[in-house]
Amino acid sequence: MSSCIFCKIVAGQIPAAVVLETSDAVAFRDINAQAPHHYLVIPRKHVEAIKDLEDADQALAGALLLAARDVARQQGLDSYRLVVNTGPDAGQTVFHIHVHVLGGRGFAWPPG
Ligand code: 5GP
Ligand code: ZN
Repeated sequence: MSSCIFCKIVAGQIPAAVVLETSDAVAFRDINAQAPHHYLVIPRKHVEAIKDLEDADQALAGALLLAARDVARQQGLDSYRLVVNTGPDAGQTVFHIHVHVLGGRGFAWPPG
């Protein structure tokens, strides 16, 4: 989608600190890191949010989780948090699915 900032990162039209690329996903450092390790794993395909995934996207959804696992593994993280904000009330600000991979510090539960 031409106006989507994450589609522009996938297309290489705006720079990002990419840490992993697969056929389905791209992972890069969050520009406003909330932890010593903070990456975003996104599908190459534009899908706004988890709620917009279709049953046919099963492989894509799995690929995102496996890419998140691989980013954490590559970065030497054994304990980490995955977050997928879905909808504005949950804190989603970029409407192209992204899995936050956060690590390098402790995290509280319940989340804020
Ligand atoms: P959300 O709030 O939608 O769950 O997360 C969006 C994330 O994208 C935020 O953590 C924000 O810092 C990150 N972000 C927004 N714009 C950019 C960008 O242009 N480059 C990178 N690397 N991260 C971005
Ligand atoms: Zn997009």
